[in-house]
Amino acid sequence: MELNENARIDTGQVDDRRGSGGGGGAGIPIPLPGGGGRGGIVGLIIAVLVALVGGGFGLNAMNGGGAESGDNTALEQKCEADDALKQLDCRNTLYVNSIQAYWRTALPERFGQQYQPSKTVFFSQGVNTGCGQADSGVGPFYCPADDLVYIDLTFYQTLADQLGAEGEFAQPYVLAHEYGHHVQDLLGTEAQMRRQQQRDPGSANALSVKLELQADCYAGAWAKNATGTADEQGQKIFKSITEQDIAQAIDTAEKIGDDAISKRADRPVNPEEFTHGSSEQRKQWFTKGYTTGDPKACDTFSGSL
Ligand SMILES: [Zn+2]
Repeated sequence: MELNENARIDTGQVDDRRGSGGGGGAGIPIPLPGGGGRGGIVGLIIAVLVALVGGGFGLNAMNGGGAESGDNTALEQKCEADDALKQLDCRNTLYVNSIQAYWRTALPERFGQQYQPSKTVFFSQGVNTGCGQADSGVGPFYCPADDLVYIDLTFYQTLADQLGAEGEFAQPYVLAHEYGHHVQDLLGTEAQMRRQQQRDPGSANALSVKLELQADCYAGAWAKNATGTADEQGQKIFKSITEQDIAQAIDTAEKIGDDAISKRADRPVNPEEFTHGSSEQRKQWFTKGYTTGDPKACDTFSGSL
């Protein structure tokens, strides 16, 4: 993968709250109603990273919060410098730019609906969100209450160290998965799925898996079309994406499958407890999005997976 050094990095699409402290991790962890995946936040890239890294599930769903915003001044300067593409945060900003550029075109084209942009919040350790307080242990997530993607960029190191998911392309895959949840929010898929979960609590996990696999498939659709995305001046964001990059994304999808994580944590593998899908399913749906390049092909809700 090669990014285009001439593409403008639009830091307006992120909210840098790393300097603010964010009230991180101070709260007593309060479990969400009905368990981790079904409360205020959706779109955790993985279910139980927390079990591996030993962090608390620090999300207090009672708390409104989320209105604060960070200070992008330092990030802006950094991402305008000549060596911007050497910086993890600037590269991730550019990935966000590419993902949103894709959906700005694809959502009206394929679903007849306007895309509403969503910022990605960079935080460290802890953050107040519209879905409550969260700490880094939960991994990247999307909050439908404030329409924002949240990530502590040190997550990628955890992903590599704890799960062996290495390679740069894991990063845009993770972000594209979270933006997949934003798209589900815009399309009403997420709300519809919550209502179904309430009507039929016994199928709550199975429905969660469908939502997560669809987000993986949307990430694949972005990956297929990413080399076509451009900044506001029409400069291409990627110079190239290789087969090796796609293999890295698929490898990551495999390593964050619910069964893979259970095995890593030495826990029994119980498919009824899956909330994100097995390694095989995650690989399969990312690949479906990638090979078709069409988010309409990502219908995980009708029929069997
Ligand atoms: Zn997710």
